[in-house]
Amino acid sequence: WARHDRRGPELFDPDRAAAERRRHRLAAEMPAALDRGEFVLHYQPLVRLADGVMIGVEALARWNRPGAPGPQQFIGVAERTGLIRRLGRVLLEQACRRGAAADRELLISVNLSPVQLAGPGLVADVADILHRTGLPAARLQLEITETAEALPYRAVLTALGDLGVRLALDDFGTGYSSLAVLTGLPFTEAKLAAEFLAGAGHGGVLRHVIEACHTMGMTVTAEGIETAEQANVLRELGCDHGQGYHVGRPAPW
Ligand code: C2E
Ligand code: CA
Ligand code: CA
Repeated sequence: WARHDRRGPELFDPDRAAAERRRHRLAAEMPAALDRGEFVLHYQPLVRLADGVMIGVEALARWNRPGAPGPQQFIGVAERTGLIRRLGRVLLEQACRRGAAADRELLISVNLSPVQLAGPGLVADVADILHRTGLPAARLQLEITETAEALPYRAVLTALGDLGVRLALDDFGTGYSSLAVLTGLPFTEAKLAAEFLAGAGHGGVLRHVIEACHTMGMTVTAEGIETAEQANVLRELGCDHGQGYHVGRPAPW
């Protein structure tokens, strides 16, 4: 593995060695699992907080096999082996095909890894998948996590925006970007991380962040809404959209 912990010299640690062996095993198993169609998507509803109407879904990857790890783990492994490029294409096509077949004009929101953004051919792949599945570009939203790596790709983000797809800044408030960094980037939506919501409490900070996002032309989604109380507070603060177990859990569709 190219990536090492930055904690200093590697001492032998049996837990870490076991985790490493597990990651190697997963890395070895994943390509065949992808060929067998074991990676599928579950979909979690996105609602408009003002009236509770469902406006879209976020597609979340699942490894459909007993005992399989969750996406945080297998996406991480796929990023390190580079399999994420093929896996990402397969999942994007699955999501667009499902969205195009839906009887309502729902927004289909798909997560992109920074590794996909960095690789060649992403913009052409997205254009090709939209063309083949018939999903209108305006109904596809790509979620990009706010990390130090993701934001330098201005040219790619601009080209994706030019295709007419929507771009959401995922996990906003947990990472690196200040609002100033976002200036000139074609993000159409900010997704506020649940941790950020918890930290901001009921108060003024949240209202100001939401207002600032609106001023920059972005809509705001709050993630991780687990209670009616949270939904009410967010609605009163002017938050546009919501997602979370209170609204609906990820499920096959
Ligand atoms: P994310 O993009 O921030 O997705 C939201 C995560 O929060 C999902 O976890 C979802 O199931 C969970 N969640 C939704 N509502 C609630 C709630 O009310 N309370 C709590 N505690 N959790 C909630 P999940 O499905 O395990 O995915 C974890 C992460 O894995 C995602 O975080 C995303 O970063 C990554 N991921 C999932 N699918 C994909 C994919 O297809 N491609 C890429 N690149 N990454 C993916
Ligand atoms: Ca997401
Ligand atoms: Ca998120």
